Formats: sequence, C-alpha cells, structure tokens
Amino acid sequence: MVKVRSDKQIPIVDLPSSKTEKKFKAKLNRKISVMRPLLPKADRIHKYLEEIDNTRWYTNFGPLVMRFEQELADLFNVSTSSLITLSSGTAAIYTVLRALNIEQGSFCIVPSWTFVATAAAPITVGLKPYFVDVEEDSWTLDPASVKQSLKYIPGKIGAVIVVAPFGRPVNVREWDQFTKETGIAVVIDAAAAFDSVLKFENARLGNTPVIVSMHATKTFGMGEGAFVISQDKQLMHHVRQLSNYGFTASREIFLPGLNSKLSEYAAAVGLAALEEWEEKRQNWQNVTSYYLEAFKATGCDKIISHRLSSDWVNSTCNIRIPEGYNPNNIIEQLSQFGIEARRWWTGCHRMKAYENCSRFALPITEKLCDSVIAIPFSVDMTKDEVEYIVEKLHSLFN
Ligand SMILES: *Cc1c(COP(=O)(O)O)cnc(C)c1O
Repeated sequence: MVKVRSDKQIPIVDLPSSKTEKKFKAKLNRKISVMRPLLPKADRIHKYLEEIDNTRWYTNFGPLVMRFEQELADLFNVSTSSLITLSSGTAAIYTVLRALNIEQGSFCIVPSWTFVATAAAPITVGLKPYFVDVEEDSWTLDPASVKQSLKYIPGKIGAVIVVAPFGRPVNVREWDQFTKETGIAVVIDAAAAFDSVLKFENARLGNTPVIVSMHATKTFGMGEGAFVISQDKQLMHHVRQLSNYGFTASREIFLPGLNSKLSEYAAAVGLAALEEWEEKRQNWQNVTSYYLEAFKATGCDKIISHRLSSDWVNSTCNIRIPEGYNPNNIIEQLSQFGIEARRWWTGCHRMKAYENCSRFALPITEKLCDSVIAIPFSVDMTKDEVEYIVEKLHSLFN
C-alpha cells in the first residue's frame, strides 16, 4: 500500500455558493450517478422481437445473430469469418483461452491493473494467473518488458492477457510479434474499447484475438454481449464450436465446450442498438467535450490527469488525483456535493479471490489503485452537470 500523507487530507467545508451551485441546489435531491447506462427503448426493439415470433428461431445461430454479426463486421471493416459474437466479455475471454488449447496448470500472465473478470477467465480454464505490473503512462503491459520478465517466472507460461485499459488502444502488431518470437499465445482484453478498437494498430489484420464487451456499462451497450476479432481462421473456427458446447459439424466434440452464444433476443437488442449507434456516439463525444472544456477552463487539467480522448469515446471518466491525496476522502467529499465517484479498479492482487496468485512486485499498479477515481460519465449528461462536477472537483485541490 502506498502511504497516504494525512496532512493533505482536506476537511469537508461549506464552499461559498456559486452560480452553477445555485442552479443545482434544486436538482441536488438526486445524486449525479457515476454512470447511468441508456439502451434502446422497447419500441425500437419491438420489430425484431416480432421477427423472432415469426421464425420461432430463438437461439443457436439464428437469423438475427447472423445479421448482427454481419453488421458488426461491416462496422469494424472485417470479414464475417473474422468476427464472432459471444454472450459476455468474460465468457469471450475464457472461450478464446480454451480454444487456444493451452496446457492445463500453466501460468497466464495478467496485469493486476484491470477489472476482476480478466483474472477469473484463466482460472476457469485451468490456468494460473501470474500478476505483472503495467507501465506508468500507458497503464498497460509492454511487450518488451514482459519478454524480459519471462525468465523469472518459475514454470510454463501458457498465455498472456493484455488489457486495453478503459479502452485505450494497444498495438496488436507488437503482440502478434511477441507470439511469433516466444510461442506464447496472447489474448487482448479490449472489453471497453468498442469505439477505439479501430485505432488499435493491426486490430483488423492481426492474429492475436481482440475481445470487446457490449455490456450495458460499456459505450455500446446491449445488456450482455461481446465479440472477438481475429484473422486466425483456425482459432475462430474453434471459438465458434466451443461457444456451442464444442460441437463440430458431425456433432463430435474435441474439447469440453461451453455455452457462450448470444440468443436471438440478445441480437434483437444489439440490432436496435446498432441503429442508434451513430447518434449515441455523437452524444458520448458531446459529453467528452464538455469535460475537456471544463477541465481546461478551470485549470483542473493542470492538477489531475484524465483519460478522455477526442479521438474515441469511452463510457467512463477516470482521473488521476495528485500524490498525497486519499482517493476515499475525495470520493467522500464529492458525495457531499451530490456527486457520486468510485474506483472502478482496485487491483486484482488485493482481492481475496486472487490473494494466493503468484506475482511480481507491482509498484505502479499500487500507485494507480490509490490515485485513480472515476467521476460521473453518462451519455445524456448536460453541460451544466459537467461544469458543476468539475468546479466542485477543482475546489477540492485548492
Ligand atoms: C467490462 C470488462 C470486462 C467484462 O466484460 P463483460 O462483458 O461484463 O463480461 C472484462 N475486462 C475489462 C477490462 C472490462 O472493462
């Protein structure tokens, strides 16, 4: 644990009320939620549900799932054989890991700086997570440092899971190269990268599988759902089979399979969400620019660093608070202003479930765990709300 200096902890004080605060006094009966997902309304989904009533085809690669995959493949500019939908990001990671047929009991290198599900997936398929540290600037694994660290891991290394932190692009080409040189399979957990995946170097052309979640809390929400992109034809063939109990065309199974398909009902929501995607993306961009403008106008961006980009949209707004401040105090003080904040990631290695997993020293992860918090970010936030949040946030560091 990084020691937090107590002298910098800020007492909770009544700040003089400003114009924006007055505007919000009335509204402040309700907290501004850290996240408020918004998915297609029932009337937009209805026509697809009627199709299901007509075809009586409810799951097992029905017409809606196939159409949804075709439309996603068009959006991401890949052939349909390079994109497969699955029931969740977590299910996608373990389906892909099983399809890679990695020796049971071998290590799977994972960053601890990720969502808890990343480390659960290898355990589900009989691999042992080995936590490694991320880089300070990118918040992700660096292929050269991972390669250097391999010799210090006592045992067979079966795979590496690379995480695109909060959707930030990673270089797939470098990880393709890593696999070529080391023979170790790599899976990219790009769960939060629906919009940025097109900015990944080689995402469309690489063999390393890239997994994107469509959970309600991600930018493109459909409830539950995910897809994997890879040019490795054989891998994709096995992913498809394993997502359906492992059945081959002759109903033989070569590996114990899973059931991680999308149903036709899920695809109905997905198709309705795709119809709205351009508009929704624009709304995400608007909220992003409200924040970028407010950070700049208040000078907040000189005190905290943030993870928003005008090049792609994200469904979370993570900020890094300056050293010496306690994130829990900041969260508590924001809450006094009616602003909900939280830490999305608190370090897998600190979780009970993973306390016995092997790991290297994780100094950067420790630092990130104690300095990164998320402030409210929703697709339909107003400029006023954002300005209020940033003004209050800024007041905590003065
Ligand atoms: C959201 C997320 C997941 C889990 O995806 P689900 O679709 O919710 O299972 C895994 N990894 C990361 C990095 C995530 O952000």
